[in-house]
Amino acid sequence: MKILVTGGAGYIGSVFTEHLCDHGHNVLVVDNLSEGHQAAVDPRAQLEVVDLNETARLGDLMKAHGSEAVVHFAANALVGESMKNPAKYYGNNVTGGLSLLNAMVTAGVPKIVFSSTCATYGIPDSLPITESTIQRPVNPYGHSKLTFEGMLRWYGEIHGIEPVIFRYFNAAGASPRFGEHHRVETHLIPNILFAAQGRQGEIKIFGDDYDTPDGTAIRDYIHVLDLASAHRIAVETSITGQFNLGTGCGHSVKEVIEACRSVTGREIITETCPRRAGDPPRLVASIDKARSVLGWEPRFTDIAETIKTAWNWHEANPKGYADIIEQLTPDQPSSSKAA
Ligand code: UDP
Repeated sequence: MKILVTGGAGYIGSVFTEHLCDHGHNVLVVDNLSEGHQAAVDPRAQLEVVDLNETARLGDLMKAHGSEAVVHFAANALVGESMKNPAKYYGNNVTGGLSLLNAMVTAGVPKIVFSSTCATYGIPDSLPITESTIQRPVNPYGHSKLTFEGMLRWYGEIHGIEPVIFRYFNAAGASPRFGEHHRVETHLIPNILFAAQGRQGEIKIFGDDYDTPDGTAIRDYIHVLDLASAHRIAVETSITGQFNLGTGCGHSVKEVIEACRSVTGREIITETCPRRAGDPPRLVASIDKARSVLGWEPRFTDIAETIKTAWNWHEANPKGYADIIEQLTPDQPSSSKAA
């Protein structure tokens, strides 16, 4: 199939692009490279550096490519940042998304698979979170994603675009080739691994006074390769609807740190800090719907195995994609991409 992937130079998008190419699909990546890296785009895919707000250019690219589906990863996705700069989140995630939808209408692309988030649920009344749990986001990031979910409903009804909405829990891990490299890293697992590598001092624990067994916040960490397989099922079938993607199992910040200690065998020093604004105490998915409707099953259910794949990638690429760019020879300029 011909699939357009927005944000295909970012963390999850790069692993998904590789996965699609492995399965013989023809992938056009559009990314403005504000967060993504050119070296993160599988050379079998075509990369176009374009911003989501460039509606006409996006529509032209879709038509020229003959895109049969859009998989929409491109977004800002940091809870903490959204609490300081909501305009960035509404601008990129809502206005940028609207532009993408309008380009799809113009080009006649019939299907979208959207990266939504468990942050749309806010602080759930009970766990695990199902797809019918009330969505009451507690930060602008979650609200921006929920807003786009609402837009998808109406673009579906009015323009016939078929949406699949994936509400991710916490993406983690790496493929052997593509991994997590944010220019400013705020996520738990990479920061712990950086501490293990000696690239940063202690790991800050944001709050140990939550109402959880060890007082630290609980999240459901899903491997990026499992996210990738769910998205491929979504594009290859005619299924629509909303699905949680997690493992169904939660781990506290302290448990994740302990797992990183055992995977890396390194000393990891911690410092307890105040809670981070906008953080819910516990987010754990029910994945029954994804299992039964998509026929999907996460392969990585042991947090240590997931962390191990991330550790392997960070050990192989201690400067992330900066290493890969440095390794390119003059015959392989970083600007070259095969179509
Ligand atoms: N966290 C932490 N120290 C860090 C980064 C994150 O204690 O250096 C906590 C954070 O407060 C949250 C959990 O780890 O409870 C997961 O945070 P992350 O930023 O990885 O993902 P989020 O759940 O915000 O999408």
